[in-house]
Amino acid sequence: MRIHNFVEYYARNYPDSPAITRGTRTLNYSQLDAMANRLANGLLEKGVEKGDRVAVVGENGEQHLAMILACAKIGAITVELNYRLATPEIAYIIKDSAPRILLFIGGDMSQLCQELQDLLPADIVQLFSEVPNRDDWLDWLNALPSTSPGIEVDACDGVLQMYTSGTTGNPKGVVMSHGNMVAGGLQNLVAKAVKAGPGSADLICAPFFHIGGAGAALVALYTGAHVILHKTFDPEAVVNDIESYPISSIFLVPAMIMAILSLPDIESRDFSKLNHIFYGASPITEQVLRRAIEVFQTDFTQMYGMTESSGAGLNLGPSDHLRALKGNPGLLGSCGRPNVGVEVMIADSDGNEVPTGEIGEVYLKSDTIMIGYHNLPEETKATLVNGWLKTGDSGCMDAQGYVYLKDRIKDMVVSGAENIYPIEVENVLSLHPAVKDVAVIGVPDDKFGEALLACIVTQQQCDLDVEAMIGHCRGKIAGYKIPRQLKLYSELPRSPTGKVLKKELRAPFWNSMDRSIG
Ligand code: ATP
Ligand code: MG
Repeated sequence: MRIHNFVEYYARNYPDSPAITRGTRTLNYSQLDAMANRLANGLLEKGVEKGDRVAVVGENGEQHLAMILACAKIGAITVELNYRLATPEIAYIIKDSAPRILLFIGGDMSQLCQELQDLLPADIVQLFSEVPNRDDWLDWLNALPSTSPGIEVDACDGVLQMYTSGTTGNPKGVVMSHGNMVAGGLQNLVAKAVKAGPGSADLICAPFFHIGGAGAALVALYTGAHVILHKTFDPEAVVNDIESYPISSIFLVPAMIMAILSLPDIESRDFSKLNHIFYGASPITEQVLRRAIEVFQTDFTQMYGMTESSGAGLNLGPSDHLRALKGNPGLLGSCGRPNVGVEVMIADSDGNEVPTGEIGEVYLKSDTIMIGYHNLPEETKATLVNGWLKTGDSGCMDAQGYVYLKDRIKDMVVSGAENIYPIEVENVLSLHPAVKDVAVIGVPDDKFGEALLACIVTQQQCDLDVEAMIGHCRGKIAGYKIPRQLKLYSELPRSPTGKVLKKELRAPFWNSMDRSIG
């Protein structure tokens, strides 16, 4: 199956069913498919061929989603560009992916567009959609035929090139096939086991350049659901829509959940129509999760995956959350068990499976694993080994098959002879009432090689000193895991999907020194 087959199916069988709403604009399935066909025919007219790349830079929107479907229909690959990167970084990705077309969506991209002009290859065709005073786009679009372009596309053909979040290094271009994306969708649907299909609604507020954005929007379209689409994430707008629409499911990263929970009067808002919250992409503290469960009073599913696995992998479902609350609190620290069709293995550094309960690297095997990294053959070879994806995350598995993530291997701190997983320390620090946000990193140390530094943002009008921090940790974690150094920040650097950028926190300390991991 190909990702566009689903929209074509609903356009044929449920043409009037709403497909996307953004603000006051709604497209039904028939209109969405027609828009995708027009764009597909337009791309052909511009000389785009099967296997070519089309780069898209812009916020979430119906034209953006239709462009992904249009590329799919002609066997082209959409390259999603993170417009929050610095201009030279975006220029680098454009050069790396060598797209035939570069599409800017929305007036908000006009400054970036100007800055990019001198950096773009001469032969690239630029298109502008939804840009004020550029009506040529609509004239062009409306004149194109809305019939299917009729191109043969194979399930193993590439369809999306999405860059990893760049949390640990430079973002890597992950090429995913139709088969990867459809398998990922199916896995998510089984994990969802929630209301899906025509008549249900999914709220999408993660950016399309992240797998949790475009990937989640496509899964909704696979079921014929109504996509309530947000251009960007705005906590107040999300809560307003949750109050207005019967939202069957929403995907939120932990930083989004924290932002929503910080809204004034959040307890008095109405979440009764919200069916299911999916969360993942970065670690969540037990404290935040418990508060979210209390405030939203709905079903929760945690998803663990990565761009390289088309977003899919493991899940901790609603019944697991219930069991955790009813006397099995340790389960809240798990990211769950494998999705349908996924194999998971915890392996040592030689790639051999370790015994139950022991820590190693998480390996995944599934139909969702990427074709490879674009233009990075060495990295691809090091990441895809004997049919397994090496995730770069460390964790362990219990006898029931639940996986407990420790941390990214690159973030692990080796102090003396001890391996320390900063997330464990962060979880303890986050319980201190003065702590609003925290990240623990390794900094150079003459005696131990590395020592722990706690980077902390305090709650307003709260203070925290090293002694108080150490006193709080004592008895909760082993002595060697307690940071002896503290630095206060007004905020922590985060990626657009809310991941703490530890490489940025570490940089000033390791300046010109070698840190072999990370
Ligand atoms: P880069 O690979 O460029 O360093 P990245 O790994 O952050 O960036 P993504 O593919 O967006 O890029 O993120 C996948 C990673 O996010 C996983 O490897 C894992 O570390 C983290 N992650 C995903 N889901 C969860 C989860 N449920 N709990 C904790 N961490 C998660
Ligand atoms: Mg990664």
